Amino acid sequence: MQRSSRLSGFYQLGQEERLDLVKSHCELDDATIKALKDSSALPFDLVNRLVENAIGGFTVPLGIATNMIIDGQDILIPMATEESSVIAAVGNTAKQCRETGGFFTSLSGTEMIAQVQIINLSDPWSARAKVLERKTEIAEICNACDPVLIKLGGGFRDLEVRIIDTRSGPMVVVHLIVDTRDAMGANAVNTMAETLAPKLSEWTGGKHHLRILSNLADRRVARARAVWQAETIGGAEIVQGIMAAADFADADPYRAATHNKGIMNGVSAVTLATGNDTRAIEAGAHAFAARTGRYRSLSHYEVTPEGNLAGSIELPMALGMVGGATKVHPTAQACLKILGVTSAAQLSGIAAAVGLAQNFGALKALATVGIQQGHMALHAQNVAIAAGAVGDEIALVAQRMADAKTIRQDVAESILVSLRQA
Ligand code: NAD
Repeated sequence: MQRSSRLSGFYQLGQEERLDLVKSHCELDDATIKALKDSSALPFDLVNRLVENAIGGFTVPLGIATNMIIDGQDILIPMATEESSVIAAVGNTAKQCRETGGFFTSLSGTEMIAQVQIINLSDPWSARAKVLERKTEIAEICNACDPVLIKLGGGFRDLEVRIIDTRSGPMVVVHLIVDTRDAMGANAVNTMAETLAPKLSEWTGGKHHLRILSNLADRRVARARAVWQAETIGGAEIVQGIMAAADFADADPYRAATHNKGIMNGVSAVTLATGNDTRAIEAGAHAFAARTGRYRSLSHYEVTPEGNLAGSIELPMALGMVGGATKVHPTAQACLKILGVTSAAQLSGIAAAVGLAQNFGALKALATVGIQQGHMALHAQNVAIAAGAVGDEIALVAQRMADAKTIRQDVAESILVSLRQA
């Protein structure tokens, strides 16, 4: 039975009650709940295997964004982030587009690109032709590297050979296009590139140099769209305000950087929660945003014929369900269970939808009351803690700072002193 992600009042519950709701909503077992509840779910021997010179773990808050409908499914979204307001913004935004069906997503494919650089060539065009002649042989060499991937329907798909002009002269760059299915695929394609490279030197007479995937995963582009009805979000003026804010971001790189950072607040939180590589996703997104030669917005907003606001987003999304930390991190596994996803394609669509939700939330706040009102209320609690407040003092100090409309550590400290004296 499908349950609604519209968990009204979720934010007012305690940890146990929230976990109980998530448990029954997602039909989770006790081990999964334990992994979620225990914020240091990584045993040291695992930490020690994941990174070098390990000394411990670093815990990031994990929360649930409610209200999301994605491709007709009500989905609870686990988000790992240290930033306040991010999870609340996604839930609020999602609530405002439930009546239009929520978010709809697609993925262009699950292909990654590995690059092999060939240098010391006086005849790059001949070298290019020689490589392209060997496509069948190249496919065989690549596919032999990963029988598991081939069994799962993935493997080599295509070959591109580019000639690029550089300060060191022309270079040949071979692109291996590989379907990595439910893996992010970095290790998979890097192995293929390293295995093939000596052959490329042999065939071209040049020297192979770098052999590594490209994080500009533009054959793995996730898309999401949603419509917010004008009357639900406050009327035509707000629609126009959001349009002007979105157009500003698309026209100006200074604004676009912050606009896209807001999108990545959502995307990276889902990426981290599922044990995926946040840097890979960030690098891909920003390179994609600059693909026209100018850094631009990753999202688009339009007014529908009915006067409603249609938002859409498109960005590379090299997320995996296997490999990396995803398979070994117990909390990442628990988060995948909460999402209920069975493929990297589904996961990618969800991350794109969360990015769009986050983006709409930020634009609406910026175009109306400003970002600080919502943000500072939550931020005030962090300032109170930094000033030394504990237990009930935290909410009291935060409230007094909010009442005084001044949220600063020195103010928090003096409120704390007067509270304690009283
Ligand atoms: P991986 O090598 O751990 O796992 C992928 C392998 O799992 C596949 O090659 C396949 O053999 C197997 N597999 C099992 N079930 C599969 C399925 N359903 N679909 C596809 N493959 C399946 O991991 P990976 O995804 O190749 O690499 C990801 C890791 O590489 C991340 O930890 C990332 O941080 C790291 N990395 C990233 C970069 C970069 O982004 N520039 C560079 C190097 C390494």
